[in-house]
Amino acid sequence: MKEAVEAGCCVVGGGPAGMMLGFLLARAGVDVMVLEKHADFLRDFRGDTIHPSTLEVMYELGVLEEFLKRPHQELRELSGWIGDEIVKVGDFTHLPTHCRFLALMPQWDFLNFLAEQGRRYPTFQVRMQAEVTDLLFENGDEKGRVAGVRAKTPQGDLEVRCRLTVGADGRKSVVRERAGLEVINMGAPMDVMWMRVSREASDPRQTFGRIAMGRMLALLDREDYWQMAYVIPKGRAEEVRQKGIKWFREDVAGLLPFLRDRVDELQDWEQVKLLTVVVDRLRKWSRPGLLCIGDAAHAMSPIGGVGINLAIQDAVASANILGAKLREGIPNDEEVQAVQRRRTFPTRATQRMQLIVQNNVIRRVLGSTKPLRVPWILRVMQWVPWLRRIPARMIGIGFRPEHVRIGEAEPKKLMAAD
Ligand SMILES: Cc1cc2nc3c(=O)[nH]c(=O)nc-3n(C[C@H](O)[C@H](O)[C@H](O)COP(=O)(O)OP(=O)(O)OC[C@H]3O[C@@H](n4cnc5c(N)ncnc54)[C@H](O)[C@@H]3O)c2cc1C
Repeated sequence: MKEAVEAGCCVVGGGPAGMMLGFLLARAGVDVMVLEKHADFLRDFRGDTIHPSTLEVMYELGVLEEFLKRPHQELRELSGWIGDEIVKVGDFTHLPTHCRFLALMPQWDFLNFLAEQGRRYPTFQVRMQAEVTDLLFENGDEKGRVAGVRAKTPQGDLEVRCRLTVGADGRKSVVRERAGLEVINMGAPMDVMWMRVSREASDPRQTFGRIAMGRMLALLDREDYWQMAYVIPKGRAEEVRQKGIKWFREDVAGLLPFLRDRVDELQDWEQVKLLTVVVDRLRKWSRPGLLCIGDAAHAMSPIGGVGINLAIQDAVASANILGAKLREGIPNDEEVQAVQRRRTFPTRATQRMQLIVQNNVIRRVLGSTKPLRVPWILRVMQWVPWLRRIPARMIGIGFRPEHVRIGEAEPKKLMAAD
């Protein structure tokens, strides 16, 4: 069966960028449809960090209090083990935001929350299990204006015609590929093996990670388990697997001795997922009728855990710039390009910082054959605590934070059945 529908704006991808944009546009009275290929938001190995700047957006939207009622952890300080020393590297408690902490929340809870908020508005629609396979072009001319998308659903083919298509479908974006947008790849020296083991009350709190000779392991405290990122040189996953799961468990326990009694929970490689790290960005984020945002416009390295934040900031900027135009009609090409102009500086500056860390810290650590010493800059930070506010600001707020400037349309009157 083939279904054809119309929408003011069609957002492809229900990740942080797409769900936030859908919510903001619906809130502004735009008729918006979000298409998500999965049946739910329950996906593992995605970042779980909600940054102070994203929490500030929640505050500006009037939903922060409700959001913080959801189970989460609050991280006020970043620290790490270098060699055998614990060093403090970031202090969020002085940020000029309402929340002076980084919230850790499973991404599915965060996305469900955004979907619930969007559903308060009559012009919001999310279609799950709708996988976009192609773009529609005006008069069928692939060089012409993008007029919507074609998707597969369990009920059959779906065509959505709209005034603006937004590709928020992540770093393997079908939208950007079908639109022929040029990708600049900046490379990454590492990949990440992602896993979890249980956490006990006596474990250290809020530990950020361990860096030792040739090895690196980042840890996220998720209350009853540790989410762990074991960093390996690019393309070496098979080599690691060849050494066997027993060797791997020993290596993790060697890095984090307090986990020795629990590494046995890692029984096979099925529990250790490989995440290929990519850092890239589009030369042009748009073409007539189409805009890409979030990872679809610029895949971020996991360094600093800032990808979700940037995706949210892109969504806020897009809604601020295009919301009113979309409510009234069709934004012109110049207006759509304004989103890239607004977001290029923060994207480039963040990726630049990530590349500096990748090439000067991670590459060196992974290639090191001597015990590591704490670098002088981190040593100074231990003596001068206020210096720790600088990395906290760069991670927690980032460059050129966005604020919600687009107004609110009338929310839907909630019925007893809602
Ligand atoms: C190892 C690793 C760890 C990371 N850790 C963190 C972290 O701790 N904190 C952080 O902030 N960032 C982290 N990141 C980066 C972060 O995951 C991304 O930057 C962020 O999720 C981007 O959001 P997005 O909405 O642009 O894209 P995504 O989150 O990728 O969302 C895209 C959505 O589009 C859907 N989709 C894809 N194709 C289609 C299609 N054809 N049709 C319909 N739907 C489609 C997908 O199912 C998905 O829901 C990490 C990245 C890596 C690789």
